[in-house]
Amino acid sequence: MARVLILGGGFGGVVAAESLAKELGDEHEITLVSRSRRFLFYPALVRLAFGKCGPDDVSFDLRKSMLSRRVNFIEAEVARLDLDGRRAILAHGEVAGSISYDYVIFALGRRLATERVAGFFEHAHHLLALDGALKFGEAIRDFRDGQALIGQCPDARLPVPVYETALALSRLIGDEGQAKTRITVVGPGSLESELQDERMARTLAEAFARRGIEYVADFPISKITSGAVSTADQRELDYNLLMLLPPFTGSSAVSHLGITNDDNYVNVDWNMKVIGVERMYAVGDCVNFAGPKMGHMAVNQAEVVAANLAAEISGREPTAHYQHDLMMVVEGDGESIYFHKDLWTDEPAKVRHGTFWSWAKRVHEKYWEATHA
Ligand SMILES: Cc1cc2nc3c(=O)[nH]c(=O)nc-3n(C[C@H](O)[C@H](O)[C@H](O)COP(=O)(O)OP(=O)(O)OC[C@H]3O[C@@H](n4cnc5c(N)ncnc54)[C@H](O)[C@@H]3O)c2cc1C
Repeated sequence: MARVLILGGGFGGVVAAESLAKELGDEHEITLVSRSRRFLFYPALVRLAFGKCGPDDVSFDLRKSMLSRRVNFIEAEVARLDLDGRRAILAHGEVAGSISYDYVIFALGRRLATERVAGFFEHAHHLLALDGALKFGEAIRDFRDGQALIGQCPDARLPVPVYETALALSRLIGDEGQAKTRITVVGPGSLESELQDERMARTLAEAFARRGIEYVADFPISKITSGAVSTADQRELDYNLLMLLPPFTGSSAVSHLGITNDDNYVNVDWNMKVIGVERMYAVGDCVNFAGPKMGHMAVNQAEVVAANLAAEISGREPTAHYQHDLMMVVEGDGESIYFHKDLWTDEPAKVRHGTFWSWAKRVHEKYWEATHA
């Protein structure tokens, strides 16, 4: 019998748990630990902020859904991993002390390094938690005139909600509101560096231009005060409404183990095995792959992990490989834009437009909830 411990109840951890439960026999024990028993469907938070759906539409009870798949669920905070002792140390929650494992899947996502941008907590809205999205929604409803500033801080690595927020705000304001308002998207680099593709960048720049949205490139925000954001070299932009994604880093639970890069992202190979460690896999936002960090990547990686771990446990060679594709649907001005790019080659991205993609994204959300809740 093998004891498999999965740390993190987001897209990566949940799909790894479900897929493993299907692959492994009943004699094996699977346990998932996460700090909250609610699963949050992040991609719907822009729509939530704009009042298109409610809190119950974007989350579900993880404990119930795990138990129905014979996965044990523990609500607790993971403090750190002890690789030699093969155990995770839990700081507080339902289980105190430590929990031992034979195999571990690390899926704790990214850490929000808000401390790197002075004033972030005090002044910026964000979309990285349910209450944050609801508060931003209230601010959107109060926004009648002035400057809206939407963007990513350095190292944020999540452009989709920024683009969707700018386009949704422009739609809400309408052509008549444009005389009194201005929407600016701000980024630390260029659109091309955010999207890693010239064609995707051009398509998005055209969508912004059609809606009168300005894009300010090369503006690494380092400080926020009431009414203005600034860079380390003293450039400033004013705002009346501010939504920013903070810098991301990897989880601090493994930062001391020598298995991460400089930003604390876990070093994995394309089998999703942690480099230099036996019996450990990692998936999702916590791993060291280049480019934006997306939920569909976490899901694909989790399926690779489940296949490889099931093989390893039954004494077979783990042969499943992850393919690092970027797929994005940016809900836009009337129609949506679909991007698809292989991030491990120089092949240009595929770009498609149409109302179909927004519908497909919605259907995918419903499908996710129906199959995982
Ligand atoms: C507003 C928004 C819109 C997005 N839109 C899209 C989109 O359109 N398409 C797309 O593909 N992706 C999108 N994403 C990105 C996607 O949500 C993430 O890439 C995805 O959630 C990563 O999954 P994960 O399992 O690696 O991490 P997470 O989903 O972050 O899960 C990590 C889990 O671990 C838990 N955890 C963390 N630390 C600890 C700890 N120390 N102890 C215990 N538990 C802990 C967390 O509570 C969480 O449950 C969006 C994200 C946001 C915020």
